[in-house]
Amino acid sequence: MATTRRPLIAGNWKMNLDHLQSIAFVQKLAWALKDKKFHEQEVEVTVFPPFTDLRSVQTLINADNLPVGLGAQDLSPHDEGAHTGDIPGVFLKALDCSYVVVGHSERRADHHEDDSHVAAKVVAALRHGLIPIVCVGETSEDLERYGASKIPVDQLAAVLAEIPQGSEFVVAYEPVWAIGSGQAATPDQAEDVCKALRETIREHHGDEAADSTRVLYGGSVKSTNIAGFMKRDNIDGALVGGASLDVDEFVAIARFPHHVSLD
Ligand code: PEP
Repeated sequence: MATTRRPLIAGNWKMNLDHLQSIAFVQKLAWALKDKKFHEQEVEVTVFPPFTDLRSVQTLINADNLPVGLGAQDLSPHDEGAHTGDIPGVFLKALDCSYVVVGHSERRADHHEDDSHVAAKVVAALRHGLIPIVCVGETSEDLERYGASKIPVDQLAAVLAEIPQGSEFVVAYEPVWAIGSGQAATPDQAEDVCKALRETIREHHGDEAADSTRVLYGGSVKSTNIAGFMKRDNIDGALVGGASLDVDEFVAIARFPHHVSLD
């Protein structure tokens, strides 16, 4: 991990915790971070609750000035109008969301989101001052057929072609076979693909973007394997699903600098 990039530990709650549960969870999370002497200057921690929780979590974070950031799990490519069930970026920005996850493999699979749809969502996020976390990753069939890097690199290139130079975004490499399976990629596997993704940014948006953009790994990250990923040069944090729903486990992941030497 390059020391100039502030690590990001992002908790994707998926479709878990209603608005009441979200309040109890974030209160507990804030207490646990404080208790464990977590330093927000060292590591950025952000949660991604369901849409219906955002207002409750925003109110709590703002009222108590908690060291926890807020993001949404998706957004519409549109800004307003006849799009039943969709949520535009402008509404997320109004709730103090800083980030939005775009192109998660579960949305690509469940909602048939292709690369051009994902790119349109990334453009919409940037239009509203949100930092998109662009998720890319190969299925096990892709892995067998094309190797690990080709699909994630192609998915990222499709987005980079549509956004202006200088845009701030985060990339999350999430091999689909590693999500929720308990079978994480090895740090070597993850580093190889994250490095290829960084070089793709360099090719499309230049050195400054490549060197400053955070590339996360996601897929069965736990407190027991985070250190191995964070030791690598091209991995700047993690997108965490299941383990982000357990306060102690999530805090232990966020405290990785205390159990990893980054020399
Ligand atoms: C995810 O959903 O982005 C994810 C990485 O899930 P998990 O950590 O449960 O594998």
